[in-house]
Amino acid sequence: MAMAIALDGPAGAGKSTIAKRIADQLGILYLDTGAMYRAIGLKAIQQGLSPKDETAVENLLNVTQLDIRFVDGAQQVWLDGQNVSDAIRTPEASKAASDVSTLPVVRRHLVELQRDIARRQAMILDGRDIGTYVLPDAPHKIFLTASLDERAHRRLLDLQNRGNTTATLAEVKADIEYRDNQDSQRSFAPLKQAEDAVLVDTTTMTIDEVVQTIIDLIEKQKRA
Ligand code: C5P
Repeated sequence: MAMAIALDGPAGAGKSTIAKRIADQLGILYLDTGAMYRAIGLKAIQQGLSPKDETAVENLLNVTQLDIRFVDGAQQVWLDGQNVSDAIRTPEASKAASDVSTLPVVRRHLVELQRDIARRQAMILDGRDIGTYVLPDAPHKIFLTASLDERAHRRLLDLQNRGNTTATLAEVKADIEYRDNQDSQRSFAPLKQAEDAVLVDTTTMTIDEVVQTIIDLIEKQKRA
């Protein structure tokens, strides 16, 4: 198993921004596992299926080709030969991702892919269950969080930067609450801080401060 950093936490905690920066600084790859759930959720809604219908989604998985590619270090998600890296970022795909992610058949399939990718190269993975389930032996585990209001503000800004001009703060907050609830209540590999993960509350921290805190922590753990 190559060196792995597990970065978990609720929606909008800043995991992807932080993971990208850490990957750059350490010269390792960043695997965004949420993008994989988003791709399956996207396909389910595109096909008019209920993303919670286990049989329908299982049949869908059997005829789905999901590829994760790294181009100049950046992750791309390909679904049945199409690059869906942008299409998976809509609020509809977020909700569908959370819905399909409750299904054990989906989780088993994607976790196997994630472990396979992480086995081959040093990386930082972000998600909900990396430290508890995907890579329980990862030497570095961080649980990133922030207040609900702060996370909603950040997520709205992120959507606006991607060109979404219609999303409102109330909608984004409702989406985050829906997903956090469902993600932490599901029975199979729920969103949870691993016992050996270090909690970092980013509510009042800048991105630079969060990155430095985590890098320092990793250095300290390496020396221990
Ligand atoms: O991280 P992101 O917000 O893109 O993830 C989208 C959804 O995918 C989450 O709300 C969660 O339901 C699901 N997910 C998961 N396990 C992961 C990563 C994401 O269940 N490791």
